[in-house]
Parts: sequence; C-alpha cells; structure tokens
Amino acid sequence: MTSCAVCGGALEPRQITHTQAWGERLYRFEQVPALVCIQCGEVWLAAEVSQWIDQAVEGNATPTRREEVPVFIYPPKARAAGAG
Ligand SMILES: [Zn+2]
Repeated sequence: MTSCAVCGGALEPRQITHTQAWGERLYRFEQVPALVCIQCGEVWLAAEVSQWIDQAVEGNATPTRREEVPVFIYPPKARAAGAG
C-alpha cells in the first residue's frame, strides 16, 4: 500500500503506540511499526502486526511489563470530609 485508502494521502512509516480495548481491559503496544497517513492520520498496520496484537490480547504473548491504569469517571465525586 502506497497511499491512504481513506483519503488518498501519502503514507509515512512510523513507530506508534497502539491502544487496543478488549472487553474491559486496555492493552498498549509500544514501538509498533505502522504506516500513518500524513493527511488524515489514519493508521495502517501490517497483517502480521495486527495478528501479533490479536494474539497478545488473547493472552498468547507475554507482556514486556504491566502498568496499572487509573480510571476516572466524570463527574468527580466529592471527597469525604476529613479525609484529606
Ligand atoms: Zn488518509
């Protein structure tokens, strides 16, 4: 693929951080080789890369590291009096 299938813009090879939601979990993939459209920003992953991501979220790959992700829902709850 040499041009964006969405807008026809030029594609540039880049390393991206890809976030994939799987159920209630979020998976992050760093240093992912991708083609990024310089016009609309659409990200294109090679078949082998998206395959690797699918396998990883299904638990068939060992993560490099794990991070705890704080989750916030708007609106914020008021702090209990005396807690701070
Ligand atoms: Zn595009």
